Amino acid sequence: MSRIDRRGFLQVLGGAAASAGLAPFNSAWALEARAAIPARPVIVVDAGHGGIDPGTIGRTGTYEKDVVLSTALELAHQLEAGKRFKVYMSRTDDTFVPLGERVARARAHDADLFLSVHADALPEAHLRGASVFTLSEKASDKEAAALAERENNSDRIAGINFGTQDPEVNEILFDLTRRQTNNQSIRLAQQLVVELGHRVKLLNHTHRSAAFVVLKAPDIPSALVEIGCLSNLQEERALREASYQRTIATTLARSVNDYFDVTAKG
Ligand code: ZN
Repeated sequence: MSRIDRRGFLQVLGGAAASAGLAPFNSAWALEARAAIPARPVIVVDAGHGGIDPGTIGRTGTYEKDVVLSTALELAHQLEAGKRFKVYMSRTDDTFVPLGERVARARAHDADLFLSVHADALPEAHLRGASVFTLSEKASDKEAAALAERENNSDRIAGINFGTQDPEVNEILFDLTRRQTNNQSIRLAQQLVVELGHRVKLLNHTHRSAAFVVLKAPDIPSALVEIGCLSNLQEERALREASYQRTIATTLARSVNDYFDVTAKG
């Protein structure tokens, strides 16, 4: 079986056994599903934008691509220092990486988790705070749809169109896998909201969903964090500071650890 077949199938069966109220040990499938979480999970940290794509531009000219890269580098550094995970980044410098390529790289690394780091811009300059997104074809609100549209524009900016390569799997299995992944992504988002909420300001609608291309790996739990609003002067200033980036990175690293603590308990 290909990776998506096998792992997805095991996870789905494990999940089905759990929701049917079966004790995990009654099911060899569930045992295998639990074993599917490797001893050293692979985390892909994705710094949004890069190269010719600056992302959003702050009130005083701060580029999203720069602040998210330094924050993502710090996050990768902290995760590596914990020695619990294998960590990869979709970019480590100011280069352009198409959205489809980011997902393809995560899958090539056999990622167990994909975390995309972005910064927001809102029409209302007084609004500030972080927020977390998971994938949904139907956006949770109008602003979420507009944001996904903006973030998805990256590939059009570069004139590159990466089509998704549909894996050759049974359609039903694929749907089940995707549903399971979506549940895990929501759990990740909840951990992110909790940890961010302890340390930084959050937007009112903290966890939202929209059709972000970069969250579309059907078999990798994924979330996108907007670490703050570059459209707010105060937050733009904070986002440029190494100490604030470190605080954000620490909360994101904690969320990843929380997620695997909960997952390991099954
Ligand atoms: Zn962005």
